[in-house]
Amino acid sequence: MYANRARTYASLTLLCVIAGLSGCESTVYPPPPPDQALTQFDIPSDPKVIIFVIDGARRSETFADTSHAYIPHIWNDLRPQGTLLSSFHNQGITATVPGHSSMITGTWQNLANDGTERPTQPTIFEYYRKTHSVPQSDTYVVSGKSKLNVCSYGTDPLYGAAYGATEDVNYPDDHAVYDELMNVLQTDRPRLVLACFPSVDLAGHSSVWSSYTSAITAADSLAWKTWNYLQSDSFYTGQTYMFITNDHGRHNDANGGFTNHGDGCAGCRELMFLALGPDIWAGHSSDGYFTQRDICSTVGYLLDFPVPNSQGNLMPDIFTPVSTGIAEPFPDDGAAPPGEGTNTSRRKN
Ligand SMILES: [Zn+2]
Ligand SMILES: [Zn+2]
Repeated sequence: MYANRARTYASLTLLCVIAGLSGCESTVYPPPPPDQALTQFDIPSDPKVIIFVIDGARRSETFADTSHAYIPHIWNDLRPQGTLLSSFHNQGITATVPGHSSMITGTWQNLANDGTERPTQPTIFEYYRKTHSVPQSDTYVVSGKSKLNVCSYGTDPLYGAAYGATEDVNYPDDHAVYDELMNVLQTDRPRLVLACFPSVDLAGHSSVWSSYTSAITAADSLAWKTWNYLQSDSFYTGQTYMFITNDHGRHNDANGGFTNHGDGCAGCRELMFLALGPDIWAGHSSDGYFTQRDICSTVGYLLDFPVPNSQGNLMPDIFTPVSTGIAEPFPDDGAAPPGEGTNTSRRKN
């Protein structure tokens, strides 16, 4: 769609150095002077992003469960291919509309949870369409819950409906959302999709533990099938990023348990996050602190559009480390020169 490019990483690296973020590993990103911190990534020439949201799964049943019994595919099949962020949070309102709206605007969205309010800031769909002049069919909100149609665009007058995503909502369960997602991927071939799977949240509210955990296992299977589909389709394979995450968690047991959610307890705030795709560090896990707001900024980076109103940050920890050339041995030390040997540097020279 647009020319191949590499992305500058300087400001991010500098930010990490200043902030001393635990996620910026010193062996990967040594603190070079700012004018030398021009680490770059290769991004595919025609990148796509699928945000796969499992509504209301508590982290104690996903990544924080040491048995990982309910997420066999995500844990055993997908995690080795991607980066797991073990400290990923909703620090805003822990409900469905606010949670989804925060991840796509990069701002904490204090919105009604009934679909009567749209995000007050531009969404990734609006930024993307306005920057690249792509049609509405290139962007989709595929959602079981009909109220998430409000995620297609926000109320900022500089953006809005003219740049909104296709609203494709109101499906009864995760399997129906998956079927529609497959239909959309095969027909309109969108490059930016927010896919919202409702069944875990609905099962949680039923108070039946076995229904809740069964729904997580079903969503786990659908995430695996979705990723496999993306690898089988020549339009998407090798060009597509998929983030698996949640809009919110659920109360931990000290705050009412799994039936409900919506406050600031750790169970409601702690989310799963797994990134997959080209340049994503395979088999990597980071405990660096990130939040839903960082999804907006990272999608903007991947699809090459500015996100001026986002208060989030790019998530550096998910990318395969690229050598800066600093602190590497000189060739006359007898060691392999920078960029050779076991270091699979992708730095542009
Ligand atoms: Zn709910
Ligand atoms: Zn709670």
